Amino acid sequence: MSTFSTPAILLRRSVYGDYDLIITFLSLANGKITVIAKNAKKSRKRFAGLLELFSLLNMECRLPKGRGMAVLQAAALENPFADIRGDIMKTAYASYWAELINLWLEEGKPQARIFHLLHYCLDALNTGILGNEELSILFQLRFLSFSGLSPDFSECNCCHAGTDEIRSDWLVFELAKGGILCKGCSSSALSALKLSKGTVKQLLWIQANDLKKAGRLKFTRPALIEGLNFLERFIAFHIGREPKSLKFLRNLRSQKFKE
Ligand SMILES: [Zn+2]
Repeated sequence: MSTFSTPAILLRRSVYGDYDLIITFLSLANGKITVIAKNAKKSRKRFAGLLELFSLLNMECRLPKGRGMAVLQAAALENPFADIRGDIMKTAYASYWAELINLWLEEGKPQARIFHLLHYCLDALNTGILGNEELSILFQLRFLSFSGLSPDFSECNCCHAGTDEIRSDWLVFELAKGGILCKGCSSSALSALKLSKGTVKQLLWIQANDLKKAGRLKFTRPALIEGLNFLERFIAFHIGREPKSLKFLRNLRSQKFKE
């Protein structure tokens, strides 16, 4: 039997039997990993207050011989990100990011860049140093880029005119092809979404800059909402359905913006 330890963020947990918890983590060393925490339900002492959603832990696991689930041996709390769980809107965003990682990543394949991205976004969400909506745009754009699915905003997919050279104040995004079309080329598009050029330029700017610099971009309210709606649709298109947590998030958000 071998053991390993790694920083890890808790993505999902469910009760198993009378005493145990099954937990999915995004770990730095092993990527997405599902482990069993034995007696975690029964013995409050053992993992007291540690196994909460979105917590950053240092965990130690034992791998069984042959097949079977890794067993959580010990955990030390690095950051509980408790202000996320105390705020329903922040919880909704973090749940959406966690679900995307859970749906998209293969078990046991290290994804250090996605781990650092989630860590950065949870930390900023927890402290409130950046707005929830801005962070979700950052998270989704980076997540798509690390997954090899970046939307291409650089030029018209058809006539190759650069985005800066296109004169109209809106563009069309073709979901199936993952790129934009200028007004003149857009008539044949099948799965098209209209986007204002200002929003496209802001998303391009975020793609081109590092996280810290990208986080300083000030969106106008319409560009923020348009960018979020676009990315959420783009991702749902690639997954083939709307993630469960996204329905909840969108409901909450529509109530908030009605106020
Ligand atoms: Zn064109």
